[in-house]
Amino acid sequence: MSQRQLAYVFDLNKCIGCHTCTMACKQLWTNRKGREYMYWNNVETRPGMGYPKNWEQKGGGFKDGVVRTDGKIPPMADYGGVWEYNTAEVLMKGKGDQVVPHEKPTYGPNWDEDEGQGQFPNNHYFYMPRICNHCSNPACLAACPRKAIYKREEDGLVVVDQERCRGYRYCVKACPYGKVYFNLQTGKSEKCIGCYPRVEKGEAPACVKQCTGRIRFWGYRDDKDGPVYKLVDQWKVALPLHAEYGTEPNVFYVPPMNVTPPPFEEDGRLKDEPRIPLADIEALFGPRTKEALATLGREMQKRREAKPSELTDILIGYTNKDRYGI
Ligand code: SF4
Ligand code: SF4
Repeated sequence: MSQRQLAYVFDLNKCIGCHTCTMACKQLWTNRKGREYMYWNNVETRPGMGYPKNWEQKGGGFKDGVVRTDGKIPPMADYGGVWEYNTAEVLMKGKGDQVVPHEKPTYGPNWDEDEGQGQFPNNHYFYMPRICNHCSNPACLAACPRKAIYKREEDGLVVVDQERCRGYRYCVKACPYGKVYFNLQTGKSEKCIGCYPRVEKGEAPACVKQCTGRIRFWGYRDDKDGPVYKLVDQWKVALPLHAEYGTEPNVFYVPPMNVTPPPFEEDGRLKDEPRIPLADIEALFGPRTKEALATLGREMQKRREAKPSELTDILIGYTNKDRYGI
């Protein structure tokens, strides 16, 4: 459908959950009318409910990679709505001394931040940033009877034509990742645009460029010298999230290496098992997870022995050029 495909790799071992990416996106794209509740980029704590709430149970995508299925439209409560604060009253009018939301929030992006799973000292969590996957087989596009969603020929980014959209919301139902949002002010669907106005000027997307942890790698999928190709196709350590949804996502994740201490026995001895159960990571990234983790472990060991490792050099991402070629 597209001549080339832009793609992303997020290394979950480096994400510090700072939300700089989320704020970069919000400042640039979703701080306008009707978009207040939207987070085209969000960072979830895993295990957790995510954003929108329990998106993995919303349905959508393709059964067996072929038959498109409808999911549900998340109610506004599952996004948490818009948090309005009394900032102006406190700071401009001197009313009260504490900035608080007007209404007590009941949900929001990363609502269960840092909670994770298990009881101390055997608890665990990791951060998982999420954006639209700019899928090669986008369910949102397939569901739109107006052909208002299209993949850009030059870079494969999936965008909504605001002129053609009539607000039927079939795309919201169809995306299994919960990454299409409905703008109640304009009556149209909106989603991550891959920062294409920046891309067209030779600049990386804002979430990529601003990432504090330097976890984000970006570039054309077919650029054999680029980090995306090397991590996904050559080293095979970056995996799609929920590939079973059948949309062929173009955001790939380096799974968490689980290098935190193993869990403790009651008497304080270490158990002979990983802190995060492998099955939990495989539930996200599929059966190739174990092989990817083994490769990462082998290459890290090489560096401990002061031997060279191309893979660890790529993952460190010393410079902007190393991470996204610009
Ligand atoms: Fe469409 Fe969802 Fe895929 Fe983005 S993640 S391209 S919104 S199906
Ligand atoms: Fe993680 Fe980077 Fe986003 Fe910070 S800016 S939360 S390190 S992806």
